[in-house]
Amino acid sequence: MLIRLIFLFLLLYLIYLVVRFFQSLGQPPRANRRQPDSLPKKTMVKDEVCNTYISEDEALKENYDGRVYYFCSEDCRKKFLASKNSTG
Ligand SMILES: [Zn+2]
Repeated sequence: MLIRLIFLFLLLYLIYLVVRFFQSLGQPPRANRRQPDSLPKKTMVKDEVCNTYISEDEALKENYDGRVYYFCSEDCRKKFLASKNSTG
């Protein structure tokens, strides 16, 4: 039947249009193209008391002797300060 063929072509054409529409949506502008691989990674810092690595955002910071030290918890921070204060 010819009418079925025409209907089929119309359907394919519609699908083609929809696909093209979504393709144009999915293409980001060239200037603002983002590369996920080049995104800045979280800086990992070392807790010198328990030798754990934590992200800088979550770490507790302590300025000691002109240096910044990072700790995973308040306990580690206290241990560090105690060890620095007890022995000169
Ligand atoms: Zn720790």
